[in-house]
Amino acid sequence: MMSKLVAGAFVLLVALGVKFLGYSDGQAGKGFINSAFAQTAPLVSPVKARPRDSYFPNSEDLQPDEMRVIACGTGMPTARPSQAAACFLVELGNGDKFLFDLGTGSAERIAALQIPYNFLDKIFLGHLHTDHFGDLASIYVGGALAGRQKPLRVWGPSGDTAKRGTAYAMDHLQKMLTWDLDGRRGIMDERGLSIQTTEFDYKGENQVVYQENGVTIRSWPAIHSLDGPVSFGLEWNGLKFVFGSDTYPNKWFVEYAKDADLSIHECFVAVPSLIEKFKFTPQTALAVGTQIHTSPEAFGKVMSLTQPRMAVAYHFFKDFDTTAAINDRIRSTYDGPLSLAEDFMVWNVTKDDIRVRMAVVSEEVWPPPASEKPMPPDPSRRIPYSKQILDGKLDVKDVIQPIYDEINAEYGLEEKPE
Ligand SMILES: [Zn+2]
Ligand SMILES: [Zn+2]
Repeated sequence: MMSKLVAGAFVLLVALGVKFLGYSDGQAGKGFINSAFAQTAPLVSPVKARPRDSYFPNSEDLQPDEMRVIACGTGMPTARPSQAAACFLVELGNGDKFLFDLGTGSAERIAALQIPYNFLDKIFLGHLHTDHFGDLASIYVGGALAGRQKPLRVWGPSGDTAKRGTAYAMDHLQKMLTWDLDGRRGIMDERGLSIQTTEFDYKGENQVVYQENGVTIRSWPAIHSLDGPVSFGLEWNGLKFVFGSDTYPNKWFVEYAKDADLSIHECFVAVPSLIEKFKFTPQTALAVGTQIHTSPEAFGKVMSLTQPRMAVAYHFFKDFDTTAAINDRIRSTYDGPLSLAEDFMVWNVTKDDIRVRMAVVSEEVWPPPASEKPMPPDPSRRIPYSKQILDGKLDVKDVIQPIYDEINAEYGLEEKPE
């Protein structure tokens, strides 16, 4: 078996080699490669950069009429190295940025984009599953620590009871973080350490939930798990972005997502993969993969009914052995423009063009500069240690004092160790 493969590869290489030699062996005028060889000057410069076909964060201006959307999470509740859970960033040419869902693992993807955290203060939650808001605490606290000098603004739906609504979740998230937040008092710029929640009626049909600076965001009900989930539509400058969050195919999406420029809708792991790879029982796989969520075939049907300029499928593990089946299943019901989303996929949307690329990111990013001057902390707000804990401190002043001396000299300060 192996030797056959090796022999086959050798034959292929020989064939390629002969072909290549043929091209470079005097058959001028036959095809692009020959004409390239015939030129005296090279077609591309050996020292000038060529246009890039990847997106490198912090290297491109956003044009005034342009929308850029970046997938910061496209996978499942169990986040994995290649795919965080649901999160999409929308950047507009007017300077506004919005995060739609903030699933587990997405904060790392957002960090890789090198966007000052002051610009990442608007979050829209489609529903309150952890794979859609599990990284909220990371952006809330980590974002404030890294330069967000204003409250985090969160929009999300009510529930059928007060306890199932976004306001309850945000209130209790902050309660859960009591120790964390108290421990940061008097140590850092605290202006980012609060959440402003806007809870809206999940039953509203195409209701306006946000309208500022020429941007209108509407919500409509989604059908998923319990009452409460919603989908969103963002309109700006004649462009329309739609984000379904999670939903069973529904009539509101078909009505209000029509003619979107970019339409993101869940497309769940195919049922056979749920059984074979996720190890669900057939019964659970059918219930989750077709009833709670949208199967690839149903995703295609929704897109055929709504005809976006670009359909975006997400919420499946996109692997070498699963992608073809997802694509085939979607293509059984939809033949329009399609992106099978994965983390760091980028869409540049204008009226004339939708450019789809992958972002190439550095894993060693530090927080970008704050967009406004930071405020020094107010030490009087510190909560002191108890005497027992304080008395446990080792005396290491001899090694700390030189650090103070170094920084005081560098920055012209007179700070003293405690
Ligand atoms: Zn969900
Ligand atoms: Zn989900």
